[in-house]
Amino acid sequence: MSKIMSFDEMYTKVVDGKYSFGTGSWAVASPHITMKLNEYGEYQPELKESANLPSEKELKAMQDSCLSLSEKNESDVAEKAFSNIPDIKFDNRIGFYSGLYIGHVTEGKFRENGSSGGFGTWIFKELLERGKIDGVIQVKESTENSKLFEYGISNSLEQICTSAKTRYYPVELSEVINKIKNTDGNYAIIGLPSYIMETRLLSDVFPQLKKRIKFMIGLICGHQKSTKFAEFLAWQCGINPGNLQRINFRKKMKDGNASDYAIEVTGLVNGKSQTIVRRMRDLIGSDWGQGIFKISASDFTDDVMNETADVTLGDAWLPEYVKDSKGNNVIIVRNPVIKEIIEDGIKNSKISVTRVNVEKVFSSQAAHFRHTQRELAYRLYKKEKAKMWVPQKRVVASNDFPWIRKRIQDKREEICKKVPLIYAKAVNKNDIMYFETRMAKLSKSYKNLYTIKGIQDKIKKELKLK
Ligand SMILES: Cc1cc2nc3c(=O)[nH]c(=O)nc-3n(C[C@H](O)[C@H](O)[C@H](O)COP(=O)(O)OP(=O)(O)OC[C@H]3O[C@@H](n4cnc5c(N)ncnc54)[C@H](O)[C@@H]3O)c2cc1C
Repeated sequence: MSKIMSFDEMYTKVVDGKYSFGTGSWAVASPHITMKLNEYGEYQPELKESANLPSEKELKAMQDSCLSLSEKNESDVAEKAFSNIPDIKFDNRIGFYSGLYIGHVTEGKFRENGSSGGFGTWIFKELLERGKIDGVIQVKESTENSKLFEYGISNSLEQICTSAKTRYYPVELSEVINKIKNTDGNYAIIGLPSYIMETRLLSDVFPQLKKRIKFMIGLICGHQKSTKFAEFLAWQCGINPGNLQRINFRKKMKDGNASDYAIEVTGLVNGKSQTIVRRMRDLIGSDWGQGIFKISASDFTDDVMNETADVTLGDAWLPEYVKDSKGNNVIIVRNPVIKEIIEDGIKNSKISVTRVNVEKVFSSQAAHFRHTQRELAYRLYKKEKAKMWVPQKRVVASNDFPWIRKRIQDKREEICKKVPLIYAKAVNKNDIMYFETRMAKLSKSYKNLYTIKGIQDKIKKELKLK
């Protein structure tokens, strides 16, 4: 067992080192910690004002439930959760699986109202109707003015359905998890990989969480965004920072590809509330590879497929599915109850899915695997070379990558570091152009690297043909 770190050591390593995912696990582990949105719109754990430091027992709970400090990695946790399930299989890239599917919900309006195929809402409906759960811990529109979204508990089908849709927005779990600690009942939770992993780790520390949180639904996550992503998208639509009231990040458009979605923003323009719809492709921020307003910790996870979740859901970003603007999910099932729900759904024609193989699932997220898993080795190498502390990952540090891939990674890091600072200045000056001109330069140098890569690939192909 590793020694228990002091609060200062933990904070320096995880928060100052920018390896905190802002999940809120520390604020569950210790009543002396609270979660705050910092000036860059990222959740950060903080000591409560004039509070004492966490006790030794709380420090241990913080350390044990923190993805960047825990002795357990996702493989250890998944092994414990799933390896005993009859007929379960394992693949190095996607983790455990007992069923792989691509498709959508045909029952009701789940697909129409969802971001992809609607499974993120429909599975909860089935769990509730079958009496497996009393409530769902999910992301909802916030009731507070200071933020747009937050984790909350839904106890009815109506509440579950009104909380559909992907929110590219930071959320933290401590408030709801602390409630669950003191409220009997059976719950399901939905979350990004670090949130599900840290909920599993918290469940090992607090037996009441293990008893009550029965199902964990995982989303695939390219990366987490700060609040400034939503704010900047709205600013481009004419809604100034501070005036955004609502945002739908994934408005489906009938006439395009599933990936060609729009945003719908509501906010004050010249003192009047307006709702504006704009295609993402026409806005700065649509290139997920560039990753503007990305939370740095997202670059230090190796869990692409939310490996510790009972079921993982994502978008079916494959040519044969992306043409359908109504959207489809890729689904990795691990839990037998959820497997039964899906198989019953097929029999009763409530869903339309195709059984697929690992390769298909992998290729739906090929770029994500390249960045998040493969090239993490280079990001770790750079940190180690600079003699900086790095969390223990399943990927080993390496400098052994083609020159161009390393430059692309360097540029992504530069964008991640510079964007929040440039944006803060633009907001101070109340000048969106200040940000856009500087962002255009970063973007151009990023795209130039892809031009070079394109030329290199072409030459390589021609040499191979000779
Ligand atoms: C930040 C982020 C990045 C993502 N990146 C990828 C990606 O790279 N590749 C990919 O294939 N898929 C990605 N997804 C998942 C994808 O966008 C869809 O959310 C998923 O396919 C489920 O769609 P659905 O139609 O089944 O769900 P819906 O029926 O629309 O239900 C969505 C459910 O997700 C919950 N939810 C919404 N936002 C969050 C959040 N921030 N944290 C936790 N729960 C939330 C809602 O409360 C709701 O229960 C990402 C999602 C998020 C939030």
